[in-house]
Amino acid sequence: MAKLDIITIPDPRLKLVSEPVAHVDDRIRKILDDMLETMYDAPGIGLAAIQVGVAERLVTIDVSREGEPKAPLFLVNPEVVWTSEETNTYEEGCLSVPEHYDEVERPARCRVTHLDRDGVERTIEAEGLLATCLQHEIDHLNGVVFIDHLSRLKRERVVKKFSKLAKVRVRSVGWRPSMG
Ligand SMILES: [Zn+2]
Repeated sequence: MAKLDIITIPDPRLKLVSEPVAHVDDRIRKILDDMLETMYDAPGIGLAAIQVGVAERLVTIDVSREGEPKAPLFLVNPEVVWTSEETNTYEEGCLSVPEHYDEVERPARCRVTHLDRDGVERTIEAEGLLATCLQHEIDHLNGVVFIDHLSRLKRERVVKKFSKLAKVRVRSVGWRPSMG
């Protein structure tokens, strides 16, 4: 397995709609395994492939608590097929929006269909943190980051902060002595 680099806002790839996976083969399993390692290392409880620059509909999740046995979920082509009217508000964070947390209201329960690591069709009935995490990650596959659920004012403030940081990074990395 290999650890991958996680991209952060305002990287335009985070706005891409990821492509469905045609076959769950060794190439896909390798990406999923690398994603899981990257997610555990970050550490995070969920990761979508686009966050490591791969525009395919792949997600890894593990919402087990510290001290509990690991419970990784591999989701290929996940789809939310039902959501409850009842909602839940969680303070969400995202590996692509480092160190920023904000409250997001989402359906409290959801049903998600997907293929697993062996290409077998599965359905998950989720509530609580898992329901939130599934919706957050599937949003990524559709080019949506959790700050897109915030008010415009709040979102613009976050994007501005990260755009400034990105500029500073580009300047410090991109500077070269003039040759002419
Ligand atoms: Zn995220």
